[in-house]
Formats: sequence, C-alpha cells, structure tokens
Amino acid sequence: MKKITDLDIENKKVLIRCDFNVPIKDGKILDDNRIVQALKTINYCLEKNAKVILFSHLGRVKEEADLAKNNLEVVSKRLSELLNKEVIFINETRGEKLEQAINNMQNKDVLLVQNTRYEDLDGKKESSNDDALATYWASLGDVFINDAFGTIHRAHASNVGIASHMKGKCAIGFLIEKELNTLSLLDNPAKPFVVILGGAKVSDKIGVIKNLVTKANYILIGGGMAFTFLKAKGLEVGKSLIDTESLSFCEEILKDYSEKIILPVDIATSTTFSNDEDYKVKSINEINNNEMGLDIGPKTLELFETYLKNAKLVVWNGPLGVYEFSKYKQATDNLLKYITDNNIKVILGGGDTVAAASNANLKDKIFHASTGGGATLEYLEGKALPGLEAIK
Ligand code: AMP
Repeated sequence: MKKITDLDIENKKVLIRCDFNVPIKDGKILDDNRIVQALKTINYCLEKNAKVILFSHLGRVKEEADLAKNNLEVVSKRLSELLNKEVIFINETRGEKLEQAINNMQNKDVLLVQNTRYEDLDGKKESSNDDALATYWASLGDVFINDAFGTIHRAHASNVGIASHMKGKCAIGFLIEKELNTLSLLDNPAKPFVVILGGAKVSDKIGVIKNLVTKANYILIGGGMAFTFLKAKGLEVGKSLIDTESLSFCEEILKDYSEKIILPVDIATSTTFSNDEDYKVKSINEINNNEMGLDIGPKTLELFETYLKNAKLVVWNGPLGVYEFSKYKQATDNLLKYITDNNIKVILGGGDTVAAASNANLKDKIFHASTGGGATLEYLEGKALPGLEAIK
C-alpha cells in the first residue's frame, strides 16, 4: 500500500481526506486532538510546495437543521491557528465558488471544503459513495491522501470514492500509517496479551471477542456488557443492562474459555440510572431485583490489576462503568491511572476510553490512543477496512 512518502506531491494539488470530526458544544471545539493529529500530513505537503485541499465530515447530516451545528468553519479557524497560516474555508461542497477558489490557489495554500456530509441531505451522496460525486471531487486535485483513520471502515465518496478514481495517485497519510503500525502489534501480540472490554452491549463486541479470544491470555470484562455474561452464568443481575440476544453467545464462550474470560466480582449498584443516589458496592451474588450495576467495584479493580501487572500488551475498548456520571467513572479512571503509573503498554481503541484518558489528563502517558473507535473495533474483529482496500 502506498504511503504519502511514495507519492510525488511536489507542486501538486493534493486532496487530503482528514478526520476533523471533533466534539463541538455551543460553537466551541471541546477536544482538538483529531485536528492536531492531521498536522503532520498537512505540513509535509506544505513543505513540498503543494496546494492542500482538505475534506472532512463532521457529525451526521440528516435534515436541514443539522447543517448549522455541523459546519466545519469552526475547524478551519482552529486549523489556521495550529498551522499559523490562513486556511481558506469554502462553505460549499461543490460548484463554481469551490472550483474558482481552487484555481486561484498558490503553492502552500490550504483550503478546507465544507463538511462532506452536507451532501447527505441530497440522497446520502457522501455516505452511499455516490460515484458522480466521487468523480467530481477526484477531478479537483492531482493526487489523493487518505489520512482519516476514523472513517477507514466506511465506504464513502470522500474516501473510497475519490481513491477509486485516482488509481496509482493515492496513498495513506502519516496518521493512518501510525495507527496501522500500532494496531499491527495485535496481529502477533507480545504475551501476556490482555484485552479489556467495557461499554454497553455485548452484541457490538462479539466479533472482537471471537477474533481475540484465541490470541489473548485474558479478556477482562466490565461495563454494561458484564451483566449479560454474569446472567449467562446463572447470576441474578436485577435491573442491570442485559443484552438478551447475546446470552447464548456468552454461555458458549464461557463454556469454551472460562479460564480466559474474567468477570467482575463486585459492583457499584443503584436503584436508578442516575448520579443522584448514594451507590452501594455489592458482591455479584448480592444484587437485588430493584438494583442495577453502574460500575465495577474495588475488588474487581484489584482483580483486573493482577492480570495487567505483567502484561506485555493491552488493548482496551469501552468504559468499565457509566462514565457520564461522576460516581461511576471511578473504575475507568483508576484503571487508567494504574496502567499509566505502571507504564503498561496499552492501546486505547478510541471513543469513550480515549475521552476518559483525556479528561483524567492521562492521555499523554498512554502508549497509543486511537483516533478511530469504530475503525479500531473493525480492525480488532479482523475485518478488511474499505478505506484501505481502496488505496491498495
Ligand atoms: P460502547 O459505545 O459500547 O463502548 O458503550 C459506551 C457506553 O456504555 C457509555 O455510554 C456508558 O455509559 C455505557 N455503560 C458502561 N457501563 C454501563 C453499565 N454498567 N450500565 C449501563 N451502561 C453502561
């Protein structure tokens, strides 16, 4: 697969698909990490005197009302600060204004096109990889770099579409290269290799469990998904989250790999799904009918730490409790702290787990915090990633 350094981009019009899908509240960017992570590729192109034309999606656009809150202009301003140069922002995804602006570009200019998903208002053209749209976008440049790791598992017009119209003239950028290099450590992991899984539903992680259970020494399970496993073992879990459809999968996997799958031994429980009540820590065989488990308990945390102590490689996807409530983010935060304090080599699979590390100011101490949760999950499932296949 071609890398950015394999392409001739000197003085060229370089189209770059970035992932600027950053969290925004009240018009303010809450975390600019994805923009920061895109700088290496952009700066490399600028050093090569290229004209840099950037594409990204932001949020989901299903109706007119979604346009204003998913406007990329705020990203262009932040990018401009980070690059320390003007970023030309075009509030269109196609048309004369965009074409003229590109024709007027000088070498080393940077232009950002409006949110590619604005095209979704008209028959989901971006998300369904509309061929006419992809052909048009590809016609705007000489070469294409895909550096949006967060959408590598999707076949959209702005990644797979453009690449398929730029055969031999497309490559991956530095961010995707870094993400893939790290994830490739999981192909043949150093042992002991430990997987930590949390989050809501077992069904979202079945593919990962199936793919990693033979490679991993242990899979530590927390979060809402633990209760389906506990129920599969015949325990009463009260009002805790249960993924009924996955019960038989849990029964099967526990039968075959009971020594590898490590479940909670105690739980922080509440009678309401809220942060208001004082919680009670209960052993897993003491959960009452009116209680639900919202975080793993201190004994479970200790148990998990014993499995992590000697681990050579750890991959972690999903929070261990209801991270949105301050009372139930303790286990996730404490385990992150244990891992960073002990310099354990961990790959955080994007999304909530990376946000947790960021909020706890631990992200800089993490071996690798992925910029793509969905993409990492699909990699962990062993699936082919369409964005990469298109470059290959
Ligand atoms: P996921 O997207 O599958 O990683 O799930 C993340 C979500 O799982 C977060 O919104 C958490 O609030 C939720 N979650 C974690 N632990 C629990 C739990 N014990 N009960 C209900 N939801 C949970």
